[in-house]
Amino acid sequence: MSLTTARTVTDLRDRLAPWRKAGERIALVPTMGALHQGHLSLVTLAKSKADRVVASIFVNPLQFGPREDFHRYPRDEVGDLAKLEGAGADLVFAPDKAEMYPQGFSTRVNLGDLTEDLCGAARPNHFDGVATVVTKLLLQCAPDLAVFGEKDYQQLLVIKRLVSDLDIPVEIIGGPIVREEDGLALSSRNAYLSPAERATAPLLYQTVFEVAADLSKGRGADDAAHAGRFKLEAAGFRVDYVAVRDPETLKPLSGPVKQARVLAAVHLGRTRLIDNVAVPLPTNR
Ligand code: AMP
Repeated sequence: MSLTTARTVTDLRDRLAPWRKAGERIALVPTMGALHQGHLSLVTLAKSKADRVVASIFVNPLQFGPREDFHRYPRDEVGDLAKLEGAGADLVFAPDKAEMYPQGFSTRVNLGDLTEDLCGAARPNHFDGVATVVTKLLLQCAPDLAVFGEKDYQQLLVIKRLVSDLDIPVEIIGGPIVREEDGLALSSRNAYLSPAERATAPLLYQTVFEVAADLSKGRGADDAAHAGRFKLEAAGFRVDYVAVRDPETLKPLSGPVKQARVLAAVHLGRTRLIDNVAVPLPTNR
């Protein structure tokens, strides 16, 4: 394997220095590992926009609640490195917990409003954990651009906001959601699904897509969202939210809408799944 792995911030910076000196554009793709085609699509996108791609792998304890899946979150570093090499990454940053959060670490990056709603309502402190680790990664790597998936749409907006608010000199790029043939968005957490749950799971995307299609036909936002929730509940999902929001601010919308994002979060057994679709509908699916 020729792909190098940096374990410390010092090592990371040492390896980036010659690239930077040569004037190369550096892209960062942050991940929590257990990589799938969704992650790799971000590496490909990053490669198309930069000379060097750094992928980070760190299962960030700060973004998991006390009763969430931090300990059972899938980990497969050997497999991840092979996939990243195949996708053309130039460097992997895989620090351990003590490197990211040494004794005495106490700072949190908190964005307020944008993080208190939707996934933030169900997962208190989640986005503070995300914002804190992403701020650290951006300062550690100082990339020219960083790529995040639209799969985690609220997270993407949170990161754009924090970069703007804190004047971090990096361009944030969103990558489209990669899906299974049946529409289910790829996620490391799909591995938790039983065969029966896996068979039900594509209904999440189908429903969110239908809500978006209804909105495109002029159906009111509240009405369309309620219908989506009803459909998911009838199929056995425990629905956290089905929401129609402004695509930039995530503020609630009502009545007929022109531009929106339909977002949903559900529980299927022990697994929490999220998805979202743009209005107007993207033309490629
Ligand atoms: P994670 O490892 O789950 O923290 O995800 C790392 C990055 O990959 C995040 O920016 C996610 O939004 C993105 N991502 C996860 N799943 C997908 C997917 N199915 N399609 C596109 N991007 C994804």
